[in-house]
Amino acid sequence: MARDPDRSASPATRPPADATKVVTAGRRPEWTAGIVNPPVWRASTILYDSVADLRAAAGRDTHHRLFYGRRGTPTQWSLADALTELEPGAHATFLYPSGVAAVAAALLSVLSPGDELLLVDSAYDPTRAIADGLLKRMGITTRFYDPLVGAGIAELVSDRTRAVLLESPGSLTFEVQDVPAIAAAAKARGCAVLLDNTWATPLHFRALEHGVDLSILACTKYVVGHSDVMLGSVTATPERWAALRDTSFQLGQTASPDDAWLGSRGLRTMAIRLKQHEASALRIAEWLATRPEVAQVLHPALPSCPGHELWRRDFTGASGLFSFVLNGGDDAARARLIDGLELFGIGYSWGGFESLAIPVDPHRHRSVVKREQAGPMVRLQIGLEDPDDLIADLAAGLERWRNL
Ligand SMILES: *Cc1c(COP(=O)(O)O)cnc(C)c1O
Repeated sequence: MARDPDRSASPATRPPADATKVVTAGRRPEWTAGIVNPPVWRASTILYDSVADLRAAAGRDTHHRLFYGRRGTPTQWSLADALTELEPGAHATFLYPSGVAAVAAALLSVLSPGDELLLVDSAYDPTRAIADGLLKRMGITTRFYDPLVGAGIAELVSDRTRAVLLESPGSLTFEVQDVPAIAAAAKARGCAVLLDNTWATPLHFRALEHGVDLSILACTKYVVGHSDVMLGSVTATPERWAALRDTSFQLGQTASPDDAWLGSRGLRTMAIRLKQHEASALRIAEWLATRPEVAQVLHPALPSCPGHELWRRDFTGASGLFSFVLNGGDDAARARLIDGLELFGIGYSWGGFESLAIPVDPHRHRSVVKREQAGPMVRLQIGLEDPDDLIADLAAGLERWRNL
């Protein structure tokens, strides 16, 4: 599904495709010394040759220079640089010990007491918790908006609005947002535009090219890809980088070299993994859409998903996470469906190699939009198992749901 406008160019002049970039990006010879993947450089103290040297280091920009462990080593710089290379228009990337830490730092880099944040109603629940907790305590107010607002965001921007946070598609309900329209309207009023791009990754949605200033990833999901590391990142435009870096330094944010190394290791196979997640999830979503037990499938690549036409216009692919709504039934019937699944684990997070299924009740978390639903909802993360095996498992689950 990846569009490639440059197929006709010669190998020497064509810009590398994303599948090539995930293999080559961030592997600077001075950081790898011939080792294929940048090794783990662990450090707190960095030793200097003299007092003069130590003093000089304190005055320098520490970007890509060893200074003190908290400012990173080549292991973190390599992954950060690779993520920057994957996002055309980006200046640099900061890594965080989790996706939530990345969201919090990005927000704090653009908001001050007295400011207002516009936050999409379909945001990841812990992102809402930052707004309702930390930001509120600091005197920063939040207004929630309909994910399908589009250019209508202009009417919501007040004199105090300094930032708009988008998440597209939205958590649990998968509404695709009109990112270019929202970004243009917000920027015209001087607001920073933040996007949680975890679902699509830069491989399937070029955030900065669509007007975003700060693109946030929970690298815990597809970058790491193996359900064993917590990691986050924020990739910034040149204009927003200094504030992001300074805020992150002041917060003492740093991702461990070992976790960054596992992130780099995951990144090398991300393009090929995403392709399989995409193909299998699409196949299963289409199969579910034909089933009488299913009222609606919320997958951005299906016309039944709100904002599907925007996905077609702006994205170059889908990933492996989507929801479906059951045709009636209660919580107990839904639990029977999920509890008996053999190949789907029951647990939070996603983006790993293994399939997951959880019950979701999005309306408990929403304040602006409460859409009517035919029945309970299930969210699936489609892993790298054979999709026919997953379909057989789900078919048995729907059978259990029917036989109340
Ligand atoms: C998981 C997730 C996060 C948070 O990432 P963690 O690494 O779990 O803190 C943020 N945004 C979205 C959309 C997520 O799914």
